[in-house]
Amino acid sequence: MPTHSAVYTCVGSVSSGKTQSSLYFASLPLNGLDIDSGAFDLSDWDQHLSCFHLPPPAAKTAVQTLPVVVISPEQAGLKCPVCLLDFEEQETVREMPGKHPFHSGCILPWLRKANSCLLCRLWLPTDNPEYEEFKKDNDKRKQREHRLEYLHVAMYT
Ligand SMILES: [Zn+2]
Ligand SMILES: [Zn+2]
Repeated sequence: MPTHSAVYTCVGSVSSGKTQSSLYFASLPLNGLDIDSGAFDLSDWDQHLSCFHLPPPAAKTAVQTLPVVVISPEQAGLKCPVCLLDFEEQETVREMPGKHPFHSGCILPWLRKANSCLLCRLWLPTDNPEYEEFKKDNDKRKQREHRLEYLHVAMYT
């Protein structure tokens, strides 16, 4: 596959080769139980920026189906993370993963360049198969770490 070779050499260490993948993750410092802090994900992702340069944009379908919600009295006064203007009651906004409201005019241009919520970094699906592989692998690894964490807790408490 000549067109994909560059991507596969890079991502392959994570998504395909099982041995390589476990070696790769074994070499990461498992600093205790802080893995779920979120910071881990980012640094992990940084190591793959050299593969993707930038996260791919969110899939068009995901953007189109982003829930449209109306700002409730409780949400009024919250700030849009992009333009920092307060939301007003009854205003129609887009809801990102993690129930975070954004103005359509603020989040839609962002999602043409990226796929994560600016606040909680939850990801929307993308159209990029390699990136989806990476995410899947990342999820699998997380599950494994959850099990390790459970074992750790079971052994030492
Ligand atoms: Zn805004
Ligand atoms: Zn969010």
